[in-house]
Amino acid sequence: MDTEIPHLHRGEAGFEQRVEDLVFNSIPLGRAPDVVASPRSEDEVVEIVRAARSAGQKVAVLSGGHNWIGASVHDRGVLIEMSAFDRIEIDPDARTARVGTAARSGAVADALAARNLAFPTGHCGLPGIGGFVLGGGFGLNVGRWKPACFSLRGVRVVTAAGELVVASESEHPELLWLARGAGPAFPGVVTELEIELQDRPADTRVSSWVFALDDLAAVSRWIGEVSPELPSNLEVAVIGLGPDRPEYPPGDGFPDHVVVVEAMAFVDDAEEAREAVAPLAAGPGFAPLGHSDLEPLPYEQIHTGFDAMCDENDRYLADTFWTDRDLEALTPLEEAIRRAPSGKSVVMAEMFGHGEKLGLTGEDAAYSIDGRTLVMAYAIWEDAASDDANRAWHAGVRDLLEPISIGHFVNEADLHADPERLSRCFTPANWERLVSLRGKWDPDGLFHDPPGSGSAGA
Ligand SMILES: Cc1cc2nc3c(=O)[nH]c(=O)nc-3n(C[C@H](O)[C@H](O)[C@H](O)COP(=O)(O)OP(=O)(O)OC[C@H]3O[C@@H](n4cnc5c(N)ncnc54)[C@H](O)[C@@H]3O)c2cc1C
Repeated sequence: MDTEIPHLHRGEAGFEQRVEDLVFNSIPLGRAPDVVASPRSEDEVVEIVRAARSAGQKVAVLSGGHNWIGASVHDRGVLIEMSAFDRIEIDPDARTARVGTAARSGAVADALAARNLAFPTGHCGLPGIGGFVLGGGFGLNVGRWKPACFSLRGVRVVTAAGELVVASESEHPELLWLARGAGPAFPGVVTELEIELQDRPADTRVSSWVFALDDLAAVSRWIGEVSPELPSNLEVAVIGLGPDRPEYPPGDGFPDHVVVVEAMAFVDDAEEAREAVAPLAAGPGFAPLGHSDLEPLPYEQIHTGFDAMCDENDRYLADTFWTDRDLEALTPLEEAIRRAPSGKSVVMAEMFGHGEKLGLTGEDAAYSIDGRTLVMAYAIWEDAASDDANRAWHAGVRDLLEPISIGHFVNEADLHADPERLSRCFTPANWERLVSLRGKWDPDGLFHDPPGSGSAGA
């Protein structure tokens, strides 16, 4: 690449470290592009795309680098890293914002909260808003605000042809459809998102209940049964945790393995929060080992707490499974949670619609799997010597969940796990449309095929 645009070639000093630093997960990827290019403007993105076309090089894009599997990093070609695109411009009157794709989800939340506004940004503030929204985006208050991609009003995109286009409901609506959930299969370089905003909740409260893992079945049944009575602005997670956890550490009246129910209320005031959690007050029929009641958690501090739990020096495997079952889907995992080689690993489940599907149709968005319960499994460990044990454990958890799964969530799916993984992040009809639109917008296959599937590049 011969240009004034900042870039680094494979083989140049610092190249390997640069690629490693761009990706959050510490598992070595074992693959690298020929060049990392760092455009500072849309014109420079256009220049890079056109140069790659002329040179017959493949292109991939990275915003925050927080895709668990390092989906942007492929062997060969040009990796366009978008870190310069981190502008956040808020229009409070229109209740919209324009955000560069590399703005961190937490930075967007903070900028909006300062104006009493909000967006379904991630619980964890570290991911880039670009990859987060393009991949659907399960964020704060998801039951009421829906996945973040449904608040996407427009995108500015440099296409495979090297043209800058604006996509909205009225211009290139099919590109907007793709941007709402196609994730790593999106065929273009998005420079900016136009997002629709919400009011910042005036009050946010968290209640939690801690039980021994032995009670996983009873606790899951309890939450599943009560869920239909809960309001959509109460987000409830059932979380299986091992001994290496910052809260409720073992030995303090808590066993090594616990199941925690966490309920986060996005409300106007404490009274509304109390009413929201009231159906949970009776408990599962036995006392928890620990309980906290409606603790205030300032909205802008939510992501800082989650960020502190995500250590960039750790190694991660993540996967997600939609199921039409209730939270009982978790119970076959009790032994697996207990046997996890790393005490940091986490398995959790949420019913975003409290037993109902969220009712998201495939007409508005590529995002399309709408199950009752999402089960999320994360292997989290520190040392390379434990790679094999943790990979085997995570594969075992996947094997337990696969038979009851109706699909996966592309932002947190292990797309390398099997060749069907990517397609199973969409309904068959939406997958077919996605593949066809990818072919239309990138007929020569300029962009790398998404990980785990050559078929979306057709
Ligand atoms: C600690 C942590 C917590 C997380 N929590 C959540 C969560 O609560 N909810 C959730 O939904 N997800 C969550 N994720 C997953 C994460 O949001 C997604 O994987 C998301 O893709 C990351 O966005 P990014 O920009 O940082 O990723 P990148 O790794 O930079 O990009 C991911 C993919 O998105 C596409 N992409 C990114 N930028 C562009 C662009 N400008 N133009 C075109 N395509 C682009 C590319 O195909 C790329 O491969 C979490 C991940 C981590 C590591």
